[in-house]
Amino acid sequence: MHELSIALNVLDIAEQTMNEHPESELVAIHIRLGPMSGVVCEALESAFTIARQQTLYPEVELVIEETQLLIDCPQCRKHQMAISINDLRCRTCGTISGKIVGGRELEIAALEVRDEQLDDTLSRSTDADSKTE
Ligand SMILES: [Zn+2]
Repeated sequence: MHELSIALNVLDIAEQTMNEHPESELVAIHIRLGPMSGVVCEALESAFTIARQQTLYPEVELVIEETQLLIDCPQCRKHQMAISINDLRCRTCGTISGKIVGGRELEIAALEVRDEQLDDTLSRSTDADSKTE
């Protein structure tokens, strides 16, 4: 299962980072996920729920920020949103572009910890409390 290995990998990276901050308690992992990443958001969430049981953080939350599919539009001469992953035309002018510049992301955006703030390599997000189940 593709998503399970990704979830384990994300948790592994988080664990390595947390090892350098033993005073901190990990509460959530924020990731950025693009529509072209090949990962299904819901599948990753359920895989994560299984994967976290095998870690030091069985309660840790996964917060997914879905990114936009962006193309480099030759007509508008700037980055624009595409219509869909199956229709790589500029949403503004309809020009087709083969150049995808955003939407392949699968990366850890931040590790959210309790009480402590990690150093500048990882920024703490403050909006996790607004997440609905
Ligand atoms: Zn355009």
